[in-house]
Amino acid sequence: MALTGLQIFKVLPKTNCKKCGKPTCLAFAMALAQKKASLDECPDATDETRAMLAEASAPPMQKVKFGTGDSAVELGAETVMYRHEEKFYSPTVIAVSVSDAISGDELKARIDTVNALQFDRVGTHIQVNAIAVVNDSGSADTFASVAETVKQASPLAMILVSESADALGAAAGKVADSVPLLACATAETADAVAKIAKDNKCPLVAAADSVDALAELTEKIKAAGVEDIVLCLKGMSLKEEMYGLTTARAAALKKSFRPLGYPTLSLVLGGTPEEQAGKALSLVSKYAGVVVLDTAEAYAILPVLTTIMNIYTDPQKPVQVEPKVYKIGEAGDDSPMLLTTNFSLTYYTVESDAEASRVPCYILVVDTEGTSVLTAYSGDKLNEKVVSEAMKKFGVEDMVKHRKMIIPGYVAVMSGKLEEETGWEILVGPRESSMLPKYLQDVA
Ligand code: SF4
Repeated sequence: MALTGLQIFKVLPKTNCKKCGKPTCLAFAMALAQKKASLDECPDATDETRAMLAEASAPPMQKVKFGTGDSAVELGAETVMYRHEEKFYSPTVIAVSVSDAISGDELKARIDTVNALQFDRVGTHIQVNAIAVVNDSGSADTFASVAETVKQASPLAMILVSESADALGAAAGKVADSVPLLACATAETADAVAKIAKDNKCPLVAAADSVDALAELTEKIKAAGVEDIVLCLKGMSLKEEMYGLTTARAAALKKSFRPLGYPTLSLVLGGTPEEQAGKALSLVSKYAGVVVLDTAEAYAILPVLTTIMNIYTDPQKPVQVEPKVYKIGEAGDDSPMLLTTNFSLTYYTVESDAEASRVPCYILVVDTEGTSVLTAYSGDKLNEKVVSEAMKKFGVEDMVKHRKMIIPGYVAVMSGKLEEETGWEILVGPRESSMLPKYLQDVA
């Protein structure tokens, strides 16, 4: 049962020393009760207090990691039901299956196809994060052999999918050093598969056909010594699974119900690429931590990755590009110098229109905390001082021999002060970026 802020306050040192970054012990207690602080932040808490508050300070949802090195992926550690309450932490991991019923060149081609599912979107690299080896062959030896081949041929984190404890044991024994996620343990196989997970130090997926059965199963697996557990609702319609995922999340985050305090995995195996993409999009929108798909069609995978990218951005922190001077084409010391802000959408729109003009130029991107031109100007994040400092910081004067800067038409009002501050001639560009190609061609 979660403790209230006052219950936690009673066992804190009550010195209001502020070492935790909060103004008072009471404020810290309230933050701890809301899972917005960690007891580790209070250096003066006694061991007795730590033991008493272990339950209250534990995260409501376990963080689970699989894979190794740069390819390792993290699931869980979520704290809110709705993104606008704070943010979601662990983007859904998309895995694409590789059947162990194929071999030779066909197997190699399939692995290469999965590895290549990578895209660049609005300046961000997005990709499939995991590869799921599926035990379609029914043979433990074949499953283990294909898992080994996948390990050699793919840098992606691995998921081993089988309901056979023998097959999971054989494959885990071969690829344990790459820390695969084992999927799945059921009520029937829980003892055997939990032992395999524990012996090989791998996280484990618990699978059941209801939320209640899942809670029972995770308790059993935890008692067997496996801490890193992932939940899977199997044998359900999409509607039932979405309802189940939401129920499990609410129980974990709202009620601190530990048996369901784990991330989730959904299997979307079978169906057309379009059907799989549709199901995956629905599951991503309702708390799926991992989605395993059969399709490796880029046209089906890209919308899913794009949706994840959108849902998992911090709503309080717009997507930003690095503030600096960007060179468009073969810009030289007589090329136009444009000004814009570091809101990704703004920058890439301007960049695209500047490229379309075929006029080589520079774009000075100033740090406005990721806000668009008008918002930045209204919030005083874009003013003559900010621009002047950015010009000095990025050595703009050394890049061009002229002293003219083109500013967005929407902030024409700042041209006078900007001229006074920088000594540059300020040219007011078009209000809409779409007019930039014609404007640049006329100016150049
Ligand atoms: Fe209180 Fe501990 Fe925070 Fe100090 S660090 S104010 S003792 S909660």
